[in-house]
Amino acid sequence: MNWFDTVEFPKDGDGCRWDSTPHDPVIRVRLQGVGHVRVHQHRPVRGRVKTVSVKREGRRWYVILSCNDVPAEPLPATGAVTGIDMGITHFLTTSQGEHQPNPRHGKRTADSLAEAQRALKAFPRRKREQRTAKHRRAVEKVAALHRKVRRRRRDHAHKTALAMVRTYDVIAHERLSIANMARAPKPRPDPETLGGFLPNGAAAKAGLNNSIHDVGWGVFLGILAHKAESAGRKLIPVDPRNTSRTCPRQLCGHASAENRPTQDKFCCAHCGYTDHADRVGALNVAIRAGLVLPDVA
Ligand SMILES: [Zn+2]
Repeated sequence: MNWFDTVEFPKDGDGCRWDSTPHDPVIRVRLQGVGHVRVHQHRPVRGRVKTVSVKREGRRWYVILSCNDVPAEPLPATGAVTGIDMGITHFLTTSQGEHQPNPRHGKRTADSLAEAQRALKAFPRRKREQRTAKHRRAVEKVAALHRKVRRRRRDHAHKTALAMVRTYDVIAHERLSIANMARAPKPRPDPETLGGFLPNGAAAKAGLNNSIHDVGWGVFLGILAHKAESAGRKLIPVDPRNTSRTCPRQLCGHASAENRPTQDKFCCAHCGYTDHADRVGALNVAIRAGLVLPDVA
């Protein structure tokens, strides 16, 4: 199994078998030509296994299942609705004014990743089999840090999304725009890091930090959509333009960059309404979704 990084078996039972030893509490997967392989299961499997993929990331192997007939788990109605603003200071802020912190992978991991990528760049480009042991370790280090960021981002997204769908029946959020995400320096595909990337240019580190955030919101919204569907909750995406620069008071509605004197502060230049800028963003998201009357703010 040296020549590929992902193998997909389109049908469980054909070339592979999930839970190949059902009489044994240890979970195994049987792969044709390989035999029974023990699997460490991250989450219980729900529904009926449809396809099985085996994927390599660095020196680790993953088994990815897709399932049919996953039972929905509707949650009891809470009567609560909210709008959310996604930001840098706080991962998200609700229109009720509650802040959810950012996952803590931010700066330190981004610094280590930038350093590991610099170290890797010092090696001449070589095919995998021609690399020295040091070069291979440098490649593996970059890949391991990418995995760490991805794992923490997903964990954080799962926890945050679960808390949101438990609390709210309806959640309005900013529609993620590709244009916003393209503001970060374009990642350059790098075959050495197995699905990872090296950012370009001098702004590489800043770009890396931004791209960690942007990808983080995308991952979060994907997971939120999934959990909302399963729980019978409703998500409403809205136009994200100027949400934290527009006065949320219905009789005012003044929109201007002046309304936001600092990153955190909102102060309407027309009527004097003041609030945290992230909460104003969240209120406007809720208003655009038709969830709250502006003057309830
Ligand atoms: Zn105003």
